[in-house]
Amino acid sequence: MQDVHPEWTQVDPIGHRAALGMRVAAVVLTLIAVGGGVLSLRLAPEWWAVAATLLVCAFVALVGVSLWVNAVAREKATVALRPTGRRVSLPVVLAEDITDEMETFRLHLKLPIEGGAMVQHACSDNRCVEAAHALPGSEVPAMIDEARRIWGVIHGPIDR
Ligand SMILES: [Zn+2]
Repeated sequence: MQDVHPEWTQVDPIGHRAALGMRVAAVVLTLIAVGGGVLSLRLAPEWWAVAATLLVCAFVALVGVSLWVNAVAREKATVALRPTGRRVSLPVVLAEDITDEMETFRLHLKLPIEGGAMVQHACSDNRCVEAAHALPGSEVPAMIDEARRIWGVIHGPIDR
């Protein structure tokens, strides 16, 4: 088996609509967190309850903010990849089950380039789990830019 080429950069392409959905969810979560934080003050003078509620709200806000950051980063990477990238189907060569509870697989994929470089993709997405179960002979849709050595598995519709 060929070596894994670490110089290939993996991105996680996302469609405009999906990114928008993630951002809306991020805003909703953050608003809930802020609202909950304000309402928690009504629990005074039960300060332990106020503190516990604030802690939960801070966590929710953190999830919201990271969701937003993630959506923006993925959309940016997708927009950068689209003009030069081409759609390909990557054959799955090997799949390792890397967790016990949730189904997460590390897929070993062969890039359709000279020399057939191998890359790895750890994922619990339906499409990738199915590809792992369907071995041998399964493929996953991807986008690849050979010149810049960027690639990414496509998990949903890439619109616009
Ligand atoms: Zn995946």
